[in-house]
Amino acid sequence: MIYRKKIVAGNWKMNKTQAEARVLVEDILREVGKFDEAEIVLCPPFTALSAVSELLSPVPNVRLGAQNLHEAPSGAYTGEISAGMLRELYVRYVIIGHSERRQFFHEDNATVNRKTKAALAAELRPIVCVGETLPERESGKWKNVLETQLREGFVGFGEKELSDIIIAYEPVWAIGTGKTASPAQAEEAHQWIRQVLSTRFSQNVSERIRIQYGGSVKPENAKELLSKPDIDGALVGGASLDARGFTAIVKNACLP
Ligand code: PEP
Repeated sequence: MIYRKKIVAGNWKMNKTQAEARVLVEDILREVGKFDEAEIVLCPPFTALSAVSELLSPVPNVRLGAQNLHEAPSGAYTGEISAGMLRELYVRYVIIGHSERRQFFHEDNATVNRKTKAALAAELRPIVCVGETLPERESGKWKNVLETQLREGFVGFGEKELSDIIIAYEPVWAIGTGKTASPAQAEEAHQWIRQVLSTRFSQNVSERIRIQYGGSVKPENAKELLSKPDIDGALVGGASLDARGFTAIVKNACLP
């Protein structure tokens, strides 16, 4: 069986000033800065990237991530940030296609495809989010929705591109709602994602790619979710804003 190192990322969304970010990072590093069993990624807002980058520079196992990028390398895109600008701050990962970007900023699978290409071209590792809404789950369409998001989001990609991508399965109905997919529901969705990738790319890709679960992950539910064979980590929103909660989730990802 292929070993996939677990990866836990904190998506701080539009929270934390630079000063608050420094405090949070210092608290997190005190607890898990030396952990090697799981990869840790912190995704602060753009304005705190530089401060967090400085604090993370001597810490090999905790990486810096961004929450978004623009697909163009530069130009007249007021308010946007390019991959090159992120690289300059030693950002290594970037979240793409988060459901809040899809819902509030009208990003679709084609946008996800272009942004993922831009990230890969700049040697940033994309964390590509997919997931169904509640009506899509309840009407039994969730498998089709995930398949379309993966097919359209990864148009033009081959095995090489896929080897640098991380997928986050984030059922929209579980994000910030306190409702978590049950471990069995999440595992079923992760298996489905692997099946789609196996058909579309190869079995090798489907076995190697890391798939995080996201949606109201908390210290109380992390152990059971992260013990499922196809769940390779977590993308954590709300609980990542609290050092104790986030580090407890990371510790669960480090269990054998
Ligand atoms: C997220 O925003 O990616 C997320 C999973 O949020 P929460 O953990 O708060 O549900």
